[in-house]
Amino acid sequence: MTTTDLPTTALRARHRAVLPAWLATYYREPIELTHGEGRHVWDAEGNRYLDFFGGILTTMTAHALPEVTKAVTEQAGRILHTSTLYLSSAMVELAEQVAALSGIPDAKVFFTTSGTEANDAALLLATSFRRSNQILALRNSYHGRSFSTVGITGNTAWSPTSLSPLQTLYVHGGVRESGPYARLTDAEFIAACVTDLQEMLGQAEGTVAALIAEPIQGVGGFTHGPDGLLAAFKEVLDQHGILWISDEVQTGWGRTGDHFWGWQAHGQAGPPDILTFAKGIANGMSMGGVVARAEVMDCLGANSISTFGGSPITCAAALANLRYLLEHGLQANARRTGTLLRAQLESARPKLPIVRDIRGRGLMLGVALTDAAAATATLEHARSLGLLIGKGGRAGDALRIAPPLSLTEAEAREGGELLIEALRRADAEREPAATGAEPRA
Ligand code: PMP
Repeated sequence: MTTTDLPTTALRARHRAVLPAWLATYYREPIELTHGEGRHVWDAEGNRYLDFFGGILTTMTAHALPEVTKAVTEQAGRILHTSTLYLSSAMVELAEQVAALSGIPDAKVFFTTSGTEANDAALLLATSFRRSNQILALRNSYHGRSFSTVGITGNTAWSPTSLSPLQTLYVHGGVRESGPYARLTDAEFIAACVTDLQEMLGQAEGTVAALIAEPIQGVGGFTHGPDGLLAAFKEVLDQHGILWISDEVQTGWGRTGDHFWGWQAHGQAGPPDILTFAKGIANGMSMGGVVARAEVMDCLGANSISTFGGSPITCAAALANLRYLLEHGLQANARRTGTLLRAQLESARPKLPIVRDIRGRGLMLGVALTDAAAATATLEHARSLGLLIGKGGRAGDALRIAPPLSLTEAEAREGGELLIEALRRADAEREPAATGAEPRA
């Protein structure tokens, strides 16, 4: 079989029917994944990979988790009828659980089919509640690809239009890697960001609706401000009655190990007014949602419906997935295996000049490299070694490590070794000028 006969190559050729700007094959030669099990996936050519990215964190617990498969199959055999016109016990049960887990008192939940749609609903609520279309967002943020959410996405590579129904004011807080902010201590950084927030508020015209923030920036390369930053922001927001939206699309459900939600790293901040989730809640089936205090949720007078949001099949998947996550202590597992993996990377770091920074929490680890070429090269080497990882960062120069939360210690060690080897190979290929070191033999 020649390369052009390979099924994946043929499929890529047929991809011209897909909007080109939204087709990112990630690798020099695209991968078509055909099946998975546990923390492993296989491609159409029969290659097996240890999955350290979970399809951008959508495989939250494990691939082909029997408990989820059973719930989905049973529901598909019973009824797929979907709409919010009728009572649904699965939707009610899930809403009750998510509301209780959110930490938001008196919470209500509205289910959507994606993170974009969840943030869009959060913006609808916040702007309606506050009667204002001004939103504060963090620089380098990513919140989705709809008309409203690209307007609050600070990462310009992902924000294709400057025309927005919202007026967005961007503040510092997510990125510490460059400029004067990089040299500050945690306390100085927080103080500088609070000053920046106050200055932006001084520039706002009247009421500001909300601040939206990812506790750890996902697409931004798993970068984040110090713990306590959002608590400091919250004090300022409270003085103006501004709502706080925590975008937990990547940070939710215990992934960060120490906490169930990313916002909990910010202690005194207390629960946000609005929280959004998506990605892995239904272990790969499309589900997102918004949680908010009843007062905020009930501010909309008009009818609201989502035909597919909270459908019986995605709710069945989410309930089974959530049960598995809680019963198997996967948050604690994320802390344990994430700590192990991080220690392994930290100890290899002195021999890897290509690595600029290791950051993140639990099973959401970012590795910032010298440049985008280094990240691309590492991704390719990891692939050839049988490891799938993600890329990200403001300049495309960071690696994103986010395996399914059921990762075993042995898999963490194995993946860590493969990643270090991929970094070592990418490092060895660098131009001597880029390293400032003598050429290597
Ligand atoms: N918010 C964050 C923090 C995200 O990472 C993403 C997706 N990468 C979204 C929102 C949008 O989610 P979706 O792709 O499901 O629309």
